[in-house]
Amino acid sequence: MTRNYPIAKPYITNKEISYVNEVLRSGILSLGPKYKKFENKFAKYVGSKYACAVSSGTAGLHLALIAAGIKKNDEVITSPFSFIASSNSILYLGAKPVFIDVEKNSYNMDASLIEKKINKHTKAILVVHIFGQASNMEKINRIAKKHNLFIIEDACESLGARYKKKMVGNFGKAGVFAFYPNKQITTGEGGMIVTNSKKVYALCDSLRNQGRSNNMQWLDHQRLGYNYRMDEMSAAVGIAQIEKIDFMLKERTKIKQHYEKYLDTDLLELPKTMPNNHHTWFVYVPIIKNKKINRDKLIAELYKKSISTKPYLPSIHLFSFYKKKFGYKNGDFPVSEHISRYSLALPFYIGLKKNDIEYISKIINTTLKKYE
Ligand SMILES: *Cc1c(COP(=O)(O)O)cnc(C)c1O
Repeated sequence: MTRNYPIAKPYITNKEISYVNEVLRSGILSLGPKYKKFENKFAKYVGSKYACAVSSGTAGLHLALIAAGIKKNDEVITSPFSFIASSNSILYLGAKPVFIDVEKNSYNMDASLIEKKINKHTKAILVVHIFGQASNMEKINRIAKKHNLFIIEDACESLGARYKKKMVGNFGKAGVFAFYPNKQITTGEGGMIVTNSKKVYALCDSLRNQGRSNNMQWLDHQRLGYNYRMDEMSAAVGIAQIEKIDFMLKERTKIKQHYEKYLDTDLLELPKTMPNNHHTWFVYVPIIKNKKINRDKLIAELYKKSISTKPYLPSIHLFSFYKKKFGYKNGDFPVSEHISRYSLALPFYIGLKKNDIEYISKIINTTLKKYE
């Protein structure tokens, strides 16, 4: 029997299908009851006062930064080891992303390097909680307070993650989640801004809806807004997903535990959970120990054996657009670059059973050993 393992797959059951059917039959495809219901359930899960559903995580980050008052020529401190959307959303406002290298154990921003980069233009810290694990919020909060900076959380990869028992999304002015099909929960495309501030919520609610006044009258547009609304079909999928979030996160943890059992730790450095963290496992990304390996060749070889793996993630500052715009070069953020160079994201989705992980791990171990 040949098996074929993609890198990610959404977990869709009859629940999603029936909820979407209900929307389609109702004839109300946008601005109906479902997005509100999804927001309420989501806010309750994350423990935030307000949730504002949007069309993507990127849209959510854009609005959260507007709500934090980020303007042209401001500087926003953030991580180079992230999906490009976190940094791009800063550029949308004409502000400048200022990168801080990451910690080698958590892949999250190294808080001890932040203060050196603060100057009179610095307005906010856009914290990225990468791969399902919170950043060191104790240190980051202390710095933000001392220098009077806003915190915005990019929690797009970390739904359900906690730092010292507090859920991510609740540490700053706003937190943003994303629901692309590879995330912990999906809506197809979609995102959510959470906040404990009524003002931030009201502003995001207006901005996602063409700048309309919050009482939903078409009569007035109070500000420059966008169409960043989430449609009702997506919201219906989101409701079904958030209703089974506990099960889904548990399943992901099991897969991680199987990998820990079967992968050869002489060859791979496995992901770690930092103290005070509850980790929710967005992806599983070990680091290849043998630095002489051509990782991309290895990926091609594994692909031939029907196992999809991926370099994950490339460092943002080395994308051609960023190099050209800011003059970044190799060596600017060495830890981030090191992880980018030797990381290997493995198949990781609900439905992978213990014997699948055993099989995948065996192939990875033997393929890696050939290079020793
Ligand atoms: C997925 C993701 C986003 C953006 O999500 P989209 O919904 O694809 O726009 C932002 N930041 C990080 C770190 C992500 O992983």
